[in-house]
Amino acid sequence: MKTKILSGKEVSASVYSDIKSRIDTLRSREITPNLSVLLVGNNPASEVYVNSKSKRFSKLGLLSETIKLPEDISQDHLISKIEELNEDNKIHGILVQLPLPKHIDTDSIIKAIKPQKDVDGFHPYNLGTLLMGKPQFIPCTPKGIMRIFEYYQIDLSGMHVVVVGRSNIVGRPVSVLSSLKSMGNATVTICHSGTPDLKEFTNQADIVVAAMGSPEFLDASFIKEGACLIDVGINRIECDGKSIIVGDVNQSSVKGKASALTPVPKGIGPMTIAMLVDNTVLSAELSTN
Ligand code: NAP
Repeated sequence: MKTKILSGKEVSASVYSDIKSRIDTLRSREITPNLSVLLVGNNPASEVYVNSKSKRFSKLGLLSETIKLPEDISQDHLISKIEELNEDNKIHGILVQLPLPKHIDTDSIIKAIKPQKDVDGFHPYNLGTLLMGKPQFIPCTPKGIMRIFEYYQIDLSGMHVVVVGRSNIVGRPVSVLSSLKSMGNATVTICHSGTPDLKEFTNQADIVVAAMGSPEFLDASFIKEGACLIDVGINRIECDGKSIIVGDVNQSSVKGKASALTPVPKGIGPMTIAMLVDNTVLSAELSTN
């Protein structure tokens, strides 16, 4: 079987082209979507993510500022910085780059962001409205996955989607979106590290979403013939003395057995950034109401 590559690069390009008219409409009202990114400490991977986000914003003529804060910043100080941004009418989106240093409680930081500026969609208010089937800011990676399905006309209705991973950032929201009548209407199974026989579940799936953070863990033996695979993983490994990025799926093993597959890189990664742009533009639009 030929495995179709579901290109996040291609889908994100179509998102950027569609979003231009929304940006122009905002500009005609003298509004430029504006994102503030808080980067705590010197985590090299976080710096790479933040740089790609800000590059994309400037490419589209949008505003973004990265506020670098020291590793030892106190939780109270970080919260007061967020509160300042909450009150600043020029800022439409606030993103705190994760992970945070261990002395900071991530949930308290996320809760400090005004839900109307929570373009990452991690605030309990936004996760709650998602659960109720009336989401406003949907977490970027799960939203990007749903856009991939839409773009390639993969109809989830009646499908069995198996999500491997239950984080609030990826696994849980993507399972909710897939099961919502208005979005996916799929039958969904969520697996995690406590699932006794993972293969038993993934082998029944029409669609597998791999979001576990285990390099190349899911090989051909985990899937049925013709399954569609969404590889969310971003794992840095050493290969032949070089540092490379691989997903959670063993891509070469599943090619020929899967009907469709998102590559790593250029799969879900670009979609996550595209959806951050989409959410920030949405926030700017809502701010005018
Ligand atoms: P996370 O918070 O560490 O969650 C991983 C989940 O996978 C947990 O629910 C864990 O189960 C489950 N898991 C781990 N090993 C497992 C196993 N052997 N069998 C079954 N379940 C297993 O990670 P995350 O933030 O969701 O991210 C997951 C991956 O996606 C990472 O590689 C991350 O870098 C990547 N990611 C990519 C993007 C992108 O833009 N492409 C965005 C976000 C994340 P427990 O709950 O039981 O621990």
